[in-house]
Amino acid sequence: MSRIDRVEIHAFRFQAQDVGLGAHSAAGVGNIIYKKGATFDAQRFAVRILCDDGAAGEYVTHWVGTPSTLGQCAMLAPNLLGRDPEQRAIIYDDLKREVRAYDHMGHGVLDIALWDLAGKKYNTSVSKLLGGYRDRLPTYASTYHGQVEPGGLDSPEAYADYALACKEAGFVGFKIHGWHEGNAAKEARTVLGVRKAVGDDMYLMVDPACQLRTWMDALYVGRACDEANYFWYEDPYRDSGVAVEGHRRLREKLRTPILVSEHVRGVELKANFLLAGGCDMIHADPEYDLGITGALKIATFCEALGLDVQLHACGPAHRAVLSALRNSHFYEMALMGPGMPNLVPPVYTNGYSDQPEDIAADGTVPVPDGPGLGVVYDWDFIERNRTALHVFE
Ligand SMILES: [Mg+2]
Repeated sequence: MSRIDRVEIHAFRFQAQDVGLGAHSAAGVGNIIYKKGATFDAQRFAVRILCDDGAAGEYVTHWVGTPSTLGQCAMLAPNLLGRDPEQRAIIYDDLKREVRAYDHMGHGVLDIALWDLAGKKYNTSVSKLLGGYRDRLPTYASTYHGQVEPGGLDSPEAYADYALACKEAGFVGFKIHGWHEGNAAKEARTVLGVRKAVGDDMYLMVDPACQLRTWMDALYVGRACDEANYFWYEDPYRDSGVAVEGHRRLREKLRTPILVSEHVRGVELKANFLLAGGCDMIHADPEYDLGITGALKIATFCEALGLDVQLHACGPAHRAVLSALRNSHFYEMALMGPGMPNLVPPVYTNGYSDQPEDIAADGTVPVPDGPGLGVVYDWDFIERNRTALHVFE
């Protein structure tokens, strides 16, 4: 039996071209804009779990890779020492209890690395360990937010043009992340304009990412979604996606299905949220929602009710989970914009890519079938660009 005897957390940075922060300069996930000629310094972190018999698992964060999450991950890492890495269920349970005072965002990274370890140990992919319902994933384009600075997604018309370009590139759907200023009229104009540009045969979604200021604004934009036959309406307003009653009342007035719960963490709270009427579909993310173990529990809960679950964001763990689900639709290539790279770290050496230009002509991405998560990380790059190393042994 393996015993975990070392956990490493490597914080590192990488550079991306033609993107930067907007005037508000807040460094949150959704604040990247197009900036011609600019170089942006992005930060992520990687974890490596090592065992006394040579077994090892690893994972490099995508959107969860924030300083805040790194702190939680470092709190939890010592808890793994001396354990059997294949006892993922009890580890899930213990880590969940350990960070119960916090938002649980640092948990998923460790669980994902344990799944990678298991796949590598048995020389099979995590997708196959999970049962593998499909090996290619229909993919939608998920945009960056709009910007007031010229360039990129700087007008409703720019969204419409970009949606059409994404349709022509093969994407099966297009999701608008709209305007930071919470202008409901502009948001609704964008919703209607995108539908007009792409025609009736493309799935469309809108995610104001909690930027509309009031419930009435949420209702106003929701009516535009109804008019333009949107596939879902996500996290509309400033309750920050956690108020059951507000969304229950929106659902009474709108036809478009409501997708909320990206910011409701873990299976118990998501179950409560849905059963109380807060949404039509649940959102799950293996990075955010306590790992692959946690995301599967959420998907199974939805399946038990005969409902669908949508996977949030992109990455090899997301592909593995989605490959095992019947009751889901698409892979989210997040985030994209005209002339903008997807801000995921350039750490893959075996052809894995979440860059928009690498989508197949049929609008799908493959599920990696190599051992573990099926990706080979460039540890030279990570170590060369490392800003901090935390070792637990
Ligand atoms: Mg969202």
